[in-house]
Amino acid sequence: MARERRCAKGLGKWALVIGALLLVAAALLFNSIPGDLRGGAQEENREGGPEESAAASEAEAPDRAPGEPSDDDEPSPGETQGADKEQGDAKEKEQGAGEEEAEEEEWSPPRFEERQAERDKMARVIRAYGLADQAVLDAMAAVPRHKFVPAKHQARAHDDTPLPIGYGQTISQPYIVAEMTRRLKLTEDSRVLEIGTGSGYQAAVLTEFTPQVRTIEIIKPLADSARRRLKGLGYTVVKVRHADGYYGWADEAPFDAIIVTCAAGQIPPPLIKQLARGGRMVIPVGGPFATQTLMLVEKDEEGKVRSRSLMGVRFVPLRRRDVSE
Ligand code: SAH
Repeated sequence: MARERRCAKGLGKWALVIGALLLVAAALLFNSIPGDLRGGAQEENREGGPEESAAASEAEAPDRAPGEPSDDDEPSPGETQGADKEQGDAKEKEQGAGEEEAEEEEWSPPRFEERQAERDKMARVIRAYGLADQAVLDAMAAVPRHKFVPAKHQARAHDDTPLPIGYGQTISQPYIVAEMTRRLKLTEDSRVLEIGTGSGYQAAVLTEFTPQVRTIEIIKPLADSARRRLKGLGYTVVKVRHADGYYGWADEAPFDAIIVTCAAGQIPPPLIKQLARGGRMVIPVGGPFATQTLMLVEKDEEGKVRSRSLMGVRFVPLRRRDVSE
């Protein structure tokens, strides 16, 4: 200390340097103590590591899949999971465990201001038909239907009418979309499968209730454009698959709700099988030129299946091959 004082008198510059050195030394000494203590805490975290890592890699795969352009082929989710396992270090996975789960829970559908007045009017028309379920009306007022129809039909996008979407297919009439959605009695935990993605509009409406939405389209260009459209608009949780929806999506079954938006000659047995106990399916049944009936199929807790007809409808047929090939 005496030397420090002498330096301070004679050489102001040196005093500053020595002072700084002393400060650094003091800081190092001080830090070493809490550093040791923290070491103990880190050890505890590491003990919990391996279990959490396993949970994380499981949680990562399903969340990552929807964002991928090619989630229409079955092997990819497994492959992705394998790659994740190799890459991630323990720390990343530790974070993932909580975050990935939280992400699905916290996901909320995108919002659009454009053309809100038209959508509100559309919801009022649906209400006038007698559909009073406010959650369904809100969903219809939220999804921008004009983004799902070809440019030349955009002016009529919010009229209560079906519109062409190419390849001889149509986006369903808004009232029918609303009524079918209502019949599913969705909750935020429902796992839903749609057969007949078309434009992706119905799938987007479903995400207003639950983030767990899967949809299958048999016409490849429609499946591809719907996947792009949904992702582009922010409906990132929807998984779109190009396949024959007659067989459902066995890997992702069971489903609490199944909605078929094309008319089948009979209810496809694989779909009944993939319906969860307590689950509900809405499906138009009947030939393309015959009267079709919208059916509600319910599977009770014992696995017993009952179906009843709801109303007469007109849908494009459920086909067994891709007409674009
Ligand atoms: N839900 C759509 C409209 C559906 S139109 C929307 O919101 O835009 C019916 C769709 O079912 C068409 O796109 C048609 O190609 C598709 N489709 C017909 N048969 C199918 C099948 N076997 N599997 C999957 N999709 C099918």
